[in-house]
Amino acid sequence: MINLNSKAFFKQAQNVIPGGVNSPVRAFNAVGGTPIFIKKAKGAYLYDEDDNKYIDFISSWGPMIIGHAHPYILNSIKKQADFGTSYGIPTVLETKIAELAVKMVPNIDKIRFVNSGTEACMSAIRLARGYTKRDKVLKFSGCYHGHADSFLIQAGSGASTLGTPNSPGVTKASASNTILVDYNNKNQLIDAFKAQGQYLAAVILEPIAGNMGCVLPDEGFIELIRELCDKYGTLLIFDEVMTGFRLGIGGAQELLGIKADIITFGKVIGGGLPVGAFAGKDEVMNSLAPVGPVYQAGTLSGNPIAMSAGYAMLTYLNEHKEIYSSLEEKTEYLRKGFELVLNQTQIHFQINSVGSMISLHFTDEPVKDFKTAQKGDNEMFKKYFHGMLNEGIYLPPSAYESYFLNDAISYEDLDFTIKAFEKVIFKI
Ligand SMILES: *Cc1c(COP(=O)(O)O)cnc(C)c1O
Repeated sequence: MINLNSKAFFKQAQNVIPGGVNSPVRAFNAVGGTPIFIKKAKGAYLYDEDDNKYIDFISSWGPMIIGHAHPYILNSIKKQADFGTSYGIPTVLETKIAELAVKMVPNIDKIRFVNSGTEACMSAIRLARGYTKRDKVLKFSGCYHGHADSFLIQAGSGASTLGTPNSPGVTKASASNTILVDYNNKNQLIDAFKAQGQYLAAVILEPIAGNMGCVLPDEGFIELIRELCDKYGTLLIFDEVMTGFRLGIGGAQELLGIKADIITFGKVIGGGLPVGAFAGKDEVMNSLAPVGPVYQAGTLSGNPIAMSAGYAMLTYLNEHKEIYSSLEEKTEYLRKGFELVLNQTQIHFQINSVGSMISLHFTDEPVKDFKTAQKGDNEMFKKYFHGMLNEGIYLPPSAYESYFLNDAISYEDLDFTIKAFEKVIFKI
């Protein structure tokens, strides 16, 4: 595939934007090569600046669940745009989307809108800390909750559960308030609670993880977290930025049948505009300013254009619930197609999937946490990624990301993808 224009645009961007991108994974550092620059998108397809066409398996990392430039969403945005783009004063639209979200998501009374998933998670732990009057939070290695200081933490050495910063600029003080545990590791979790439970404001996790590839919780794992949180008076935060409105109307809470105390949203909830949100029961949410003492604010929070896109998205999903079974069937079809090809080779692989999320790891060990995800063969992944890109299939440019299907992808597109996969895998 020729990408001379993308190459030129990337060079130009690097002069004025650090690394040429506004979010690191876009730079292709994990896979090498030059990122493609997108000119437009429609339905299941991306079109780049060299007029190449790709089937999109990242769907803007989740939001485009019904496909790009969907008329229902676009019309809503266009209608609002004529009325102005921002007021910094309340609008009815904010109440409408809040009412709809509260109706769709189990176990929430109130929801506060912000501008990104990072902001939602950052605000959720402040709320948990303010509500419980405790300082520490527990997170799991490999779960991503945005780039706020409290989350850019890795496990310390010496198997201690105390975190250390994993980015310069994050202070040791921040890290000392975040406790790290391996995903799906019940014993570590129990030990961490024994040692720190009385200081824990919150446990935050991706109830179904998508940021180390797609990783599902083991039987009883989330139940144990819920039980320990209840025992120690710790709030449970489900980070549903990825899974919210993607794995079903009620997200992971509904799928797993477990209730969290605070739920964070992003991605799908904004219909492709920058929106995040966090929600919970009155008891907890009423701690937020201006009702309660926990401060949280945003000049563009609840922005009318963003809300018009989000409201249209939630309305559409609520009225077309069959999308979720359709997406699941498509994902299952893709999985079977991939497996059929891989089973004809000697390649070691694991495919994890749930709903419309799926990931392929080149390893023979089941991928159930960050450590096992890291065992994947990255050199093979790079060849696979570029092979697929060259065939017109846009996959996440990192072995640690889940694919996100969108419902505009047809079975014809899936057959095309599986054919490309066969070609690429047989050459690896
Ligand atoms: C994407 C993501 C975030 C961060 O959201 P941004 O909008 O990128 O700030 C947080 N948590 C999870 C689970 C995510 O997938």
